[in-house]
Amino acid sequence: MRKIIVAIDGYSSCGKSTMAKALARYAGYKYVDTGAMYRAVALAAIRKGVITSDSIDEERLRGLVETIRIDFMIVDGVQHTCLDGEDVESLIRTLEVGNGASRVSTIGFVRRKLVEMQQRMGDEKGIVMDGRDIGTVVFPAAEMKVFVTARPEIRAKRRYDELKSKGQEMPYEEVLKDVEDRDYRDTHRAESPLRQADDAMLFDNSDMTIEEQFDALKKIFEKCLVG
Ligand code: C5P
Repeated sequence: MRKIIVAIDGYSSCGKSTMAKALARYAGYKYVDTGAMYRAVALAAIRKGVITSDSIDEERLRGLVETIRIDFMIVDGVQHTCLDGEDVESLIRTLEVGNGASRVSTIGFVRRKLVEMQQRMGDEKGIVMDGRDIGTVVFPAAEMKVFVTARPEIRAKRRYDELKSKGQEMPYEEVLKDVEDRDYRDTHRAESPLRQADDAMLFDNSDMTIEEQFDALKKIFEKCLVG
């Protein structure tokens, strides 16, 4: 059967990964969380003191992205991100690393390196990739493109609940501000700003349950599969 590339882009905390993972499982496709790759770069940079709360040492960051290895492994049926062979899945899911990812992702050489890795992962198609620039830069010819969004307050509540469930409680207002700051950075950066590809389908899931989202996504997938 013909295999396609599925590009799922959109704002932070709008449930892209949940949708993308469910679709990959349904289709029997590979799943790649590109946000996790930017987070892994940020974690490596934080650990080495290459980025601090107010500065980035671009020269050292360049050396770092050239040498680090990022891949994925499955642990108990769940995909985990590895940095130089170490399982860093839980370490990259903090607000600090998320913020670092948002900052390093504005730098051209970081994006070029990760985009190159992502394009290689899609060589054989049969892949669902989520991120910010998949339908516009990584796979502009993807057969299925979805641009996911939800109202900022809804996304902040989802992120708040997620952090709380991991024992990282934070005031809701702070989480909302973080979501808004990240939206601003993602849409205003010079390098591959977040935008809906002209041929992507807009998918606002503010008022949808997970099941409704998945049902809608499956329908779009089946349509794209036949072309
Ligand atoms: O999706 P997630 O929140 O894990 O991504 C972390 C950060 O990485 C985002 O805030 C975004 O700035 C950046 N990112 C990106 N391009 C991608 C995926 C993520 O710039 N393809």
